[in-house]
Amino acid sequence: MPCSTTRAASAALVVSNPAELALITRHDWSRSEIQALLEQPLMELLWQAQQVHRAANPGYHVQLASLLSVKTGGCEEDCAYCPQSLHNSSDVAGRPELEVEPVLERARAAKQAGAHRFCMGWAWREIRDGAPFEAMLQMVRGVRELGLEACVTAGMLSDSQAERLAEAGLTAYNHNLDTSPEHYDRIITTRTYQERLETLARVRRSGITLCCGGIIGMGETDADRAGLLQVLANLDPHPESVPINALVAVEGTPLEDLPPVDPLELVRMVATARILMPQARVRLSAGREQLGRESQILCLLAGADSIFYGDTLLTTSNPAVDADRELLAAAGVQVGG
Ligand code: SF4
Repeated sequence: MPCSTTRAASAALVVSNPAELALITRHDWSRSEIQALLEQPLMELLWQAQQVHRAANPGYHVQLASLLSVKTGGCEEDCAYCPQSLHNSSDVAGRPELEVEPVLERARAAKQAGAHRFCMGWAWREIRDGAPFEAMLQMVRGVRELGLEACVTAGMLSDSQAERLAEAGLTAYNHNLDTSPEHYDRIITTRTYQERLETLARVRRSGITLCCGGIIGMGETDADRAGLLQVLANLDPHPESVPINALVAVEGTPLEDLPPVDPLELVRMVATARILMPQARVRLSAGREQLGRESQILCLLAGADSIFYGDTLLTTSNPAVDADRELLAAAGVQVGG
């Protein structure tokens, strides 16, 4: 066993309470250490992830998040997985941008269905000033007044936009890194990895929390998966929220022919993210519908502590609310923000 694995394993095994988590929280992970964690025998990986998660989340609470696409399709970016890109024949443009009141109606419905976090998406390269941005701010205020956490994903943003979002009470800004720096330009060419990192830094400076993760199943290697996790885990502080997605191969996108992700690969990513970023919310995101019930429960066991719930997950469908409730009850976890 490589010494890096031994180090990570022993660090995880001594964790028995939240105070000890600080001792194993690091921001200097090497890629080989992470790859060793990711590739170790699954039972060992799950065991370590459980140790960390039990200390970080006593009682096992799972947060329910609901996601609404406010502006769908017609995006200038060329993300190879995305049906909303103008560059892909799948572009789902045509739906008008939602206005403030219908969005808040959906937020109220999400709250009634038990959601704690309401995430709103705009298919933009960057936030547009003027009326669309003023509407976004009103939506954020409205969602916060409902007592829900509010998250926005809308591409790159300026310092002043970040500050205004913070003033409006925005809880989190989502901006995913998607994959490793090395694999990145096979997936996106219209925006650089560095620009993504700068957006994350801008969000952090404004005081808004970060939601940042990636997607597996896009033709990347294990080293790429470790590379993505390395960039995330070496951010200081860690992102508060880390969505782990499995590719949903949509017809009309360059990745349409890629095979579905082996659910155990997703379990490995979740477990490794949990060990590397003990206090982050690790969110089971796109691709969940392709997983069986047992695989989803295994992801919870591996340390996922949030699922996207009800409604639709941007443009891909999501399991129905009742099925999700039943799943969480079967797993015996508590629902709570
Ligand atoms: S930036 Fe977002 S909406 Fe635009 S193509 Fe990429 S993933 Fe799709």
